[in-house]
Amino acid sequence: MIVLGLETSCDETAAALVAAEDGGRPHVLAERVYSQIAEHAPYAGVVPEIAARAHVAHLDRLVAEVMAEAGLDYGDVDAVAATAGPGLIGGLLVGLTTAKAIALAAERPLVAVNHLEAHALSPRLEAELDFPYLLLLVSGGHCQLLTVHDVGRFTRLGSTIDDAVGEAFDKVAKMLGLGYPGGPAVERAAAAGDPGAIPLPRPLKGRAGCDFSFSGLKNAVRLAVAAAEPPLPVADICASFQAAVTEVMVDRVGHAMSLHEERTAGRGRALVVAGGVAANQALRQALASLAAGRDWRLVVPPLRLCTDNGVMVALAGIERLRRGLTDPLDVAPRPRWPLDPGAAPLPFAGV
Ligand code: ATP
Ligand code: MG
Ligand code: FE
Repeated sequence: MIVLGLETSCDETAAALVAAEDGGRPHVLAERVYSQIAEHAPYAGVVPEIAARAHVAHLDRLVAEVMAEAGLDYGDVDAVAATAGPGLIGGLLVGLTTAKAIALAAERPLVAVNHLEAHALSPRLEAELDFPYLLLLVSGGHCQLLTVHDVGRFTRLGSTIDDAVGEAFDKVAKMLGLGYPGGPAVERAAAAGDPGAIPLPRPLKGRAGCDFSFSGLKNAVRLAVAAAEPPLPVADICASFQAAVTEVMVDRVGHAMSLHEERTAGRGRALVVAGGVAANQALRQALASLAAGRDWRLVVPPLRLCTDNGVMVALAGIERLRRGLTDPLDVAPRPRWPLDPGAAPLPFAGV
């Protein structure tokens, strides 16, 4: 089967064609990602209206390019999958409406994909990875720990009670004038700094559970910036911030590993990291030694699969289509759509 996947939930416009034979491992036929970083950089963050307009401007071209590269017509596609949430409503409308139009014209089923499920399943493209596993999803908009039992079956073990970790990186970078996106800039600056130079809090470290909190840490950085004598010790601040984040992550993930082991009776001792923050080398190294110390496997997909992309949406589409899970053409986008329905109320957008 061949599935076309569209991703427009945030600031990447993406399309991909993924194929899979019966029961076989899926493979990518063609993929395109247009990153809107340049459009949002002047504002040091994603501007929803600019994002939606950029999706309109670029999505059709990207779809045409992947179809041409794979040498396919819409009639060769078995289903059209698009991210239906969670995300920015303007972008979701662009992607989902485009997918509906193609599905209608080609008389193919539509699959409305949860963006978090797409991130959660994406490591299965390149790694031999059976259910269940523990997922750490860390990006600009998300920071959570989930047990992935199966397609459509997740248990949320913890999540941020305020900012996402990527958002904290972006805001610290903004305070220091390092530009956008902040994560890579902070990591580069941290390489020349002393992680012990600036005392910063480790929010929730040692507490029960697996939730995260980054707003107090962000404010502590703000105070350190205000109190510093010029010239601003940018490298030391970045190194100290990154060390605090890493230490908190290791603590929270350690708790989640214990919970996951209890709930899965010791099966599935694999930690999978997804989302843009998975690019951070300090975090990766710390998680690698945590996993090794507990005799767990660490799976970090290649970066192009960690950040937002169309391949993961097509892949989630394949997994759902294989289970007969398709959606009607009047399905609505859901700006808020948690994976674990028991964990939070589900306000329905009804757009
Ligand atoms: P969503 O949260 O909806 O999945 P997003 O665009 O916010 O979308 P991604 O594209 O997955 O998320 O990742 C971008 C985030 O990852 C940004 O916050 C960025 O600062 C962060 N990031 C990227 N590289 C690094 C790095 N090396 N270290 C830390 N953070 C990083
Ligand atoms: Mg992004
Ligand atoms: Fe994402």
